[in-house]
Amino acid sequence: MLLVTGQAETLEFSSTQHWEVRSPSVVLQIPDHIRLTSGNPERHWKLPPVNRREVFRRDNHTCQYCGSTKHLTLDHVIPRSKGGTHTWDNVVAACEKCNSSKGDRLLHETGMVLQTKPKAPMHPALAKLSEGIAFAEQFWKEQHPVDP
Ligand SMILES: [Zn+2]
Repeated sequence: MLLVTGQAETLEFSSTQHWEVRSPSVVLQIPDHIRLTSGNPERHWKLPPVNRREVFRRDNHTCQYCGSTKHLTLDHVIPRSKGGTHTWDNVVAACEKCNSSKGDRLLHETGMVLQTKPKAPMHPALAKLSEGIAFAEQFWKEQHPVDP
């Protein structure tokens, strides 16, 4: 996908074999290595800081416990008082209600469940790459239907 959209260039082709992705109009040869094209602002992408704006964005402005989109706060999954860190894998969006009912306790003490495991946001190019892989897998399945 990065190659097709001109955001990356081929670094080298494997000498023995390479992958090809075919569509009716395009045959794309997949190299072993690609390099993001120079001047691409995403090259300078840095992990965003852990703050309300970025965490709410990652969590789709949704409480990670009950799904509410109202009165959001930041919650430390492992409370800071228990050694929890202010990092992407320990901070989630939580509504005031869930945050206060969870209080200063660990998750297993509350019976509350996280809807998704918190992790750092993906580099935009990597996110596109994983979309590309999903696209290629779907394409492959359509071309190679499983025998009944
Ligand atoms: Zn909630």
